[in-house]
Amino acid sequence: MKTELFKTDSPLLGVVHLTKAGELIARGETVVFPTETVYGLGANALDESAVKKIFEAKGRPADNPLIVHIADRDDLEKLVTEVPEKAEKLMDAFWPGPLTLIMHKSSGVPEVVTAGLDTVAVRFPSNLIALGLIKSAGVPIAAPSANISGRPSPTKSEHVIEDMMGRVSAIIVSEDTDVGLESTVVDTTTEPPTVLRPGGVTVAELEAVIGRVQVSPNAIENVIPEKAKSPGMKYTHYSPKGDLVIVKGTDAEKVEKINRHIKKHEEMQIGILATDETMGNYHSGIIISLGSRENPEEMSHNLFARLRTFDDLGIEKIYAEDIEVGNDTLALANRLYKAGGYHFI
Ligand code: AMP
Ligand code: MG
Repeated sequence: MKTELFKTDSPLLGVVHLTKAGELIARGETVVFPTETVYGLGANALDESAVKKIFEAKGRPADNPLIVHIADRDDLEKLVTEVPEKAEKLMDAFWPGPLTLIMHKSSGVPEVVTAGLDTVAVRFPSNLIALGLIKSAGVPIAAPSANISGRPSPTKSEHVIEDMMGRVSAIIVSEDTDVGLESTVVDTTTEPPTVLRPGGVTVAELEAVIGRVQVSPNAIENVIPEKAKSPGMKYTHYSPKGDLVIVKGTDAEKVEKINRHIKKHEEMQIGILATDETMGNYHSGIIISLGSRENPEEMSHNLFARLRTFDDLGIEKIYAEDIEVGNDTLALANRLYKAGGYHFI
């Protein structure tokens, strides 16, 4: 398939290319576009055969449902049967932004989007190009992250070009994404509402608006509920090509463990994912900082790009320092642990 690259670096180009990209979506084609979380791979959410192209392009299992993106709260009417009061409050507080809400689906949403579930995930992004694309297409856009299934999510246009060239009709080339991790997914059909996936909006921020929420144990542990509530939970995710291991313990213990393992694997290209504060502790291997421990947002913004940098350098084994889990680092730890397949030393 020929993939068109749409640049948006001047206002005129932006308008022309958003119009063309919107026409492609309206015609049932796929377009990769930036959002404030990660790049998305979009198609008309109301067109079953268009949505199937997303699953094909990514190699995504058909039982993993998609998020539907809208550019106006009025667009919700077509998608859901009712809006719970707490969902309304969350929308007031966090839309447009990195928050996805699960509600009961209307019959207008094709089953392929929700993987047969009777609920649908909806998000109103804040990225202006994403909003321009949805408006220009004139339909809600179903979009998962624009990576090949299982790979780290794309946060830079180079990443989507690497993964999606030849697999989609067009790629909108834009700036690096802002948050760098996917949206928070909240199921508003349960009482209290359930955080199925931690993300750009933190649990404390949600609770400040609607009171207590429950957090799926899958957010931090390797547990898959009997019947996966969020089917995406059961798949390998975010993995770099090298074998990623998470190193626990005090800073001194981490250094000792990593040095010991490097000695054991002298023949391998080893990477170490550290922080600004700890990268000076290591003296061999390729040492890359995730950012400052003082700045969890910076670390979150960088995670997926750093994992892809290790790939570019041909790193075969990555030792990542464990993250101290708290409100501001829950999403970061969730992604890192899944990327490493919960392999801890
Ligand atoms: P992605 O777009 O690849 O970042 O993944 C979207 C996430 O939302 C996955 O973890 C899905 O399993 C989850 N999701 C989408 N729709 C639903 C739904 N109706 N119920 C529960 N989880 C959902
Ligand atoms: Mg994804």
